[in-house]
Amino acid sequence: MTGVIKKTAAELGALIANREVSAVEVAREHLDRIAAVDDRVHAFLHVDTEGALAAAEAVDARIAAGEQLGPLAGVPIAVKDVLATRGVPTTAGSKILEGWRPPYDATLVERLRAAGTVMLGKTNMDEFAMGSSTEYSAYGPTFNPWDLARIPGGSGGGSAAALAAYEAPLSIGTDTGGSIRQPGAVTGTVGAKPTYGGTSRYGLLAFSSSLDTPGPCARTVEDTALLHAVIAGHDQRDSTSIDAPVPDVVGAARLGATGDLAGVKVGLVREFSGEGAEPGVMSAFRETVEALTKLGAEVVEVSCPHFLYALPAYYLIAPSECSSNLARYDGVRFGLRVGDDGNRSLEEVMSATREAGFGPEVKRRIIIGTYALSSGYYDAYYGQAQKVRTLITRDFTAAFEQVDVLVSPTTPFVAFELGSRTSDPYQMYLADLFTIPTNLYGGPAISVPCGLSEGLPVGFQVMAPILGDDRMYRVAAAVESAVGTFAPPAL
Ligand code: GLN
Repeated sequence: MTGVIKKTAAELGALIANREVSAVEVAREHLDRIAAVDDRVHAFLHVDTEGALAAAEAVDARIAAGEQLGPLAGVPIAVKDVLATRGVPTTAGSKILEGWRPPYDATLVERLRAAGTVMLGKTNMDEFAMGSSTEYSAYGPTFNPWDLARIPGGSGGGSAAALAAYEAPLSIGTDTGGSIRQPGAVTGTVGAKPTYGGTSRYGLLAFSSSLDTPGPCARTVEDTALLHAVIAGHDQRDSTSIDAPVPDVVGAARLGATGDLAGVKVGLVREFSGEGAEPGVMSAFRETVEALTKLGAEVVEVSCPHFLYALPAYYLIAPSECSSNLARYDGVRFGLRVGDDGNRSLEEVMSATREAGFGPEVKRRIIIGTYALSSGYYDAYYGQAQKVRTLITRDFTAAFEQVDVLVSPTTPFVAFELGSRTSDPYQMYLADLFTIPTNLYGGPAISVPCGLSEGLPVGFQVMAPILGDDRMYRVAAAVESAVGTFAPPAL
């Protein structure tokens, strides 16, 4: 069958279930594509050819035996290298975990396997998910399929680039401050951050535990929703997992695709509609808002005065949590160990291991976090940031008393050139200006492509209340129905 790699996950699932194409054939086509383009894109850190073909064979056998499988059975998927995969290398983009093969699967990975999806491999990312460009990966950057001289976003640039390069129809990302949505925006793909606690963190290598949220990525809103439905739901192994039914995200995406938004109230965040974003991004955003009103949505402006303090608050809270979480990489229990020659003390070996194993951005965050949590400074920095977090949550709560969803551009600028922001951390941090408030609040948000600026994709962000994930899918699908999807120039 031709054109397999350009099909949606929903189409592939149906073709496989009807035995018009085998899961093995679909896996092979994608593995061939990876072999043909990934030396240029570098979306993958590890390709699991054998594992993928074995999983695909198993799906074909179950279908041949007459079993009714779910809608994504046999569909290939790429998984961000921050989720533990049994027996398959898991590095979090760091040298400190080079060669580690986890003895267990993350809950999310277990669910992907149970749904019959076929894991092709693990995708590149900024080290421990800290970054907005994938340039902080210890294994070299990923390149944006739209323009190989530009970044694919981060930290989940590999998961987004794999979709845009047609190496996989589905992928998994994690979003602590924007790492699903911003890569989606700059690669012209869809990425959703579910409600915090809506997807399990068990087996996710922790960066900032009160913010980390795994979620689905795909080229269409419907595919993203189908994947969301597979991975979401309560997990007793994660104490922050929400014990409530998963909203009907697939139904909502299909409703939105009809292009009817009658009765839906959309709020424009006043603080995000002025400065800070490139003019081309703002004009694609405004045209899309116009399109939503034509579909029947009522659009009003809403003020969220504390959103502008989200970025500084995040850059105290996330490093604080990371300084504690990353203490486990001590050269003793797993991964890299440096200097253990029998003459050095435990402290010396730990220090040499961490010096050699962590990259500069991770070290910067550990130092900031340790400082912010130190006695004497705790109240001034960490304590203040937590108060700002509360104010941001109040802004969201008040806004959702007036509107069903809030919208903004996903990120202030289109994909930038590799190397153009690495020397100035603050310029890199600005990529998440519009995405971070949602993480501090804990609600869901999605990025859906809404147009081009200077030939590069622009993302439209839809934010919804906690457990209102279905609403964001409805509006995102309506955006997609109005503006279409965007394919990059052929590689
Ligand atoms: N870019 C942000 C950071 O560097 C967000 C990362 C993320 O969501 N994992 O922290």
